[in-house]
Amino acid sequence: MDTNYLYLIGALAGICAFLFWMLFPIQSAVQKPAEVRKKPRCPLCHTELEKGEKLRSSVMELGNVEVRTTIKGCPYCLTEKKPRKRTCPVCRAVLSQAQALVAYSDPRQDRKSLSMRGCSLCYPQGFE
Ligand SMILES: [Zn+2]
Ligand SMILES: [Zn+2]
Repeated sequence: MDTNYLYLIGALAGICAFLFWMLFPIQSAVQKPAEVRKKPRCPLCHTELEKGEKLRSSVMELGNVEVRTTIKGCPYCLTEKKPRKRTCPVCRAVLSQAQALVAYSDPRQDRKSLSMRGCSLCYPQGFE
């Protein structure tokens, strides 16, 4: 009787371990395509950025109410050799490499969800 009970616990532990083992590979398999789809895009030249290719931006906190992100561009539109055309997503103006975009986010909600305001031509108050 006692040994049967131990076998049962052993079997249950084995099933649990198996379920955990099953669970984790499935989760990582589900997460991977979502990551691939969410490739960051340069808001200036609309190039999809691969891992390691980063947007050049600077973040400035304005009190604890707003976070201002100045986006300067990506390796494709900030290069000296054949830079890609840079346009403002708000006013469609063609921008030089010195001109940046400004976006705001609310750190109390989600500091990563940026709302794009524009460039120095259509949103000059963001560059003061
Ligand atoms: Zn770019
Ligand atoms: Zn603009």
